[in-house]
Amino acid sequence: MKFGETQIIRKEGEIRLLKIGAKYDREVFCVIGNGSTKHYEDYEDALEEFNLRWMKEKFGSSSNSNAGECINCGYSLQGGSYTLPWEDGDNEYGYVICPHCRCKNERY
Ligand SMILES: [Zn+2]
Repeated sequence: MKFGETQIIRKEGEIRLLKIGAKYDREVFCVIGNGSTKHYEDYEDALEEFNLRWMKEKFGSSSNSNAGECINCGYSLQGGSYTLPWEDGDNEYGYVICPHCRCKNERY
């Protein structure tokens, strides 16, 4: 890959994972969209960040105003903390903890 050359490896919504040709025949990976641009030497690290971002975008995050309502108390889930699928080891689905009653609301 030539210096300065850019290749889109993955794309989900606003998020892109790029491979960029760097000096001395090196390649760096870059994650852009929905946050500050980040560079990685390692593809696995970049992919992890990429997956985290598009999932947050797709499933909503704590800053998402369209968070829905709690299944238990009916209040808005806005401000609740979101956990990605498998983020804490054994949760098959992502979930939001209701900021009002602490009930788990699964998000697919
Ligand atoms: Zn609740």
